[in-house]
Amino acid sequence: MSSITRAWTEADFRKELKSIDEYVERTQGIRLVGAELDIEFSERARCTLGQYFPKEKKFRFSLPFFNSDVPEACAIDVIRHEYAHYYADVVLGYKGGHGLPFKSACGIVRANPSTYYSKNFESSARKKEERDARVYKSGVRAGQRVKHPCFGIGSVLTVEPLKDSALLKIDFGRHGVRIIDELWLKSKGGF
Ligand SMILES: [Zn+2]
Repeated sequence: MSSITRAWTEADFRKELKSIDEYVERTQGIRLVGAELDIEFSERARCTLGQYFPKEKKFRFSLPFFNSDVPEACAIDVIRHEYAHYYADVVLGYKGGHGLPFKSACGIVRANPSTYYSKNFESSARKKEERDARVYKSGVRAGQRVKHPCFGIGSVLTVEPLKDSALLKIDFGRHGVRIIDELWLKSKGGF
């Protein structure tokens, strides 16, 4: 799911909370029910991205933030941050604030242990998202003739782009049909 392409629903939040519940159970042997707590949504707050209320045992999240173009890793970090407050509350008896018990809870739920939403974290997450979305632009096309150092001249049948190169399916005649990495072939002067 990407916060770029679709709107967050309550089910999406519960799914993330559930995966943290499961992670905590797997790693700490503690069974929590973060996914079953009440969730409120605020339509306005852009500054308060998320909140946890120890007394009512409920979460509140800012929909305008989650449905902005923020990288998904940042959106998930806000959920983990609030979950860390929940963990600190019910496991460590720590009701509020961002002191040591909260920071250790961040370590357990894999939240970024900063008090406030970090722009640095956002920009590194955004870069990673862009990297992950990148597709290699191939320099050859089907039908093109290329030269392999061992198999000689071949005809490109298909081009399958990957992130950083492409896989070329090439017919080398008596040497058969082979799958060759495009960047490697280029580095050998194949086209
Ligand atoms: Zn906090």
